[in-house]
Amino acid sequence: ATPTALLVGTGRGAQLGILIKGPEVLESTRRVDTVLLDKTGTVTTGRMTLHEVYAADGADASEVLRLAGAVEHASEHPVARAIALGAVERGGKLPEVEDFENVPGRGVQGRVEGHQVAVGRLAEYTAQLPPELARAKAGAEREGRTAVVVGWDGVARGVVAVADAVRETSAEAVRALRALGLTPVLLTGDNRAVAEAVARSVGVEQVIAEVLPEEKAEAVRRLQAEGRSVAMVGDGVNDAAALATADLGLAMGTGTDAAIEAGDLTLVRGDLRVAACAIRLSRRTLATIR
Ligand code: ADP
Ligand code: MG
Repeated sequence: ATPTALLVGTGRGAQLGILIKGPEVLESTRRVDTVLLDKTGTVTTGRMTLHEVYAADGADASEVLRLAGAVEHASEHPVARAIALGAVERGGKLPEVEDFENVPGRGVQGRVEGHQVAVGRLAEYTAQLPPELARAKAGAEREGRTAVVVGWDGVARGVVAVADAVRETSAEAVRALRALGLTPVLLTGDNRAVAEAVARSVGVEQVIAEVLPEEKAEAVRRLQAEGRSVAMVGDGVNDAAALATADLGLAMGTGTDAAIEAGDLTLVRGDLRVAACAIRLSRRTLATIR
């Protein structure tokens, strides 16, 4: 029997909801010593909801939300969905957007009612935040909320904070991964303060934050160059390259097809604890067939 047949054959793999691409995957589980955990959708549920809207002095919060919602309506990003839905719930129908543009890992922009509107962490707006907005943004981020800047026609007008819940199973999963001798590291495109708040709440000490989607794979390669053997757990389109680059890629089954295709292994139910089970089970299976 092939190792895969053994693993699945025990029924345990399937019972736990672990899908494995091929027998060679087992071998990599033996060496991995570092596990990179994507934040949004992996350590957290990724089901974001609108939390708070802050307007700059002289701006109107409901107008900030309405225009931000109009642009975000055209995006699939979890931050975008939270803002668009919140805007509809609080304000009703959204205006049309023209010339929509998505900038991966940064935000969105488009023209709404004649204004050139941008939402996200687009440099031209985040660099010149008025003090009241900078304070609101930093406060939300310290609490672990993702805060994005809304601006139009060259002026920052507001900040929208969205809330995402840490999965109930994440802290236990981190303990289980450590028990297997793995060092957990949180990897995210989100702001450093947000990343640190989330990391702290699940017992992770190391954080790599504010990485662009294309830089996630580079973070994996950098650790590999230091001689580490790296497992990566992720769910998003922006995790696909990192999952493929890692020595062991684990995709959340609740995530995107791109992540699932790039991973060596799928955690069907999207339960991070199963990542530790999968590694433990593979190592044990290897020990049995030696
Ligand atoms: P993660 O690594 O946590 O999955 P992403 O790389 O998708 O995050 O995004 C990183 C950051 O870019 C987000 O935290 C947000 O600040 C900003 N961003 C990305 N897409 C959008 C969007 N559609 N609207 C607003 N902000 C966005
Ligand atoms: Mg993610």
